[in-house]
Amino acid sequence: MKTVANFDRIGEENAFAVLARATALAAQGRDIINLGIGQPDFRTPEHIVEAAIKALQDGHHGYTPAVGILPLREAVANDLHRRYGVQVSPDEVMIMPGGKPTMFMSILMFGEPGVEIMYPDPGFPIYRSMIEYTGATPVPVPIREENGFAFSADETLSLITDKTRLIIINSPANPTGGVTPKAEVDKFVAGLEKWPEVAVMSDEIYDQLIYDGRQHVCLLNYPSIRDRLILLNGWSKTYAMTGWRLGYAIWPGKLYENARKLAVNLHSCVNASAQYAGIAALTGPQDAVAHMRREFDKRRKLVVEGLNKLPGVSCITPAGAFYAFPNVKQTGWKAKPLANALLDETGVALIGGPDFGMLGEGYLRLSYANSAENILKALDRMGTFLASRKAA
Ligand code: PLP
Repeated sequence: MKTVANFDRIGEENAFAVLARATALAAQGRDIINLGIGQPDFRTPEHIVEAAIKALQDGHHGYTPAVGILPLREAVANDLHRRYGVQVSPDEVMIMPGGKPTMFMSILMFGEPGVEIMYPDPGFPIYRSMIEYTGATPVPVPIREENGFAFSADETLSLITDKTRLIIINSPANPTGGVTPKAEVDKFVAGLEKWPEVAVMSDEIYDQLIYDGRQHVCLLNYPSIRDRLILLNGWSKTYAMTGWRLGYAIWPGKLYENARKLAVNLHSCVNASAQYAGIAALTGPQDAVAHMRREFDKRRKLVVEGLNKLPGVSCITPAGAFYAFPNVKQTGWKAKPLANALLDETGVALIGGPDFGMLGEGYLRLSYANSAENILKALDRMGTFLASRKAA
């Protein structure tokens, strides 16, 4: 058999491999605390589950339009207007099977040999994987601890060349929890005026997980790039719906048609009952979202405080998402061997920074979407391990 070479270049998300390994160890009877996977530990709110059950009982069993049902697209447009004051037409909204397919499709639309696509490093691993898949040149944009893990407008703009077609940005960010301040986003967008051919994909999947009274900066609020902006968002993180596979994209101009055709070729449409659940999520009470945010905030403080007490570890306070990205350079360990040893020897699952890009060396990613009790237990185990074990 001879398959196309692109598949030799496709990558993965190691969080799923760690999840599989942690699950296997737990099945052998090991006491595992999983701080590896990035998903809320809450149930989907009950009224959302009920809306999906009702949709099934009402007979919504067939295909829907490839772009999603109109009431859901309207609900997305209204939600964006309510939260960010932006005018979005339901005809610009496309319902996607999760957040990931928007990055997959965007990168497919722009990536080919000879062009460059910029992406955050450390950043969500699928960006680079898909860029490599298309044969485009991946150009990492460094995300630095000294900037609070925000992206730097100047550094990002300085990396644009005549070959750049797409810039991927992500705030609040995975894996760092970094949030880019408005002044920096303003500067970035102003600088893009010199590069009218360059498109932007803004991954805002964590837009509702932001702390200390900060306001999320939605890229839809910048009219000068609106005709070349792809917005990625979805229900997974905000409404604890990772397994439902429900997301949305705002596609500009002809990209909408491209995406619609890709959907027809790939998945036909998104699961009908999940789309009805999506309406309930957006139009129903939002107190569960506020509750989850408050809980994550408490754990964020707990995890940062605990990490900073561990020998050789320092951790800045993440401003968003549900990840901490501690610096472990002073422990003497490389990040991945440390992550592996922590899982094998202490049962704490977390991810080595290099799984998110070369600049992730020297860091670990901990998801604090776990109970306070488990977080404290994990920190305790890590402390005992680091105090007693020399670097491998
Ligand atoms: N974008 C970022 C930055 C993420 O961290 C994730 C999930 O971890 C996604 C997108 C994908 O979300 P979904 O599970 O809805 O595909």
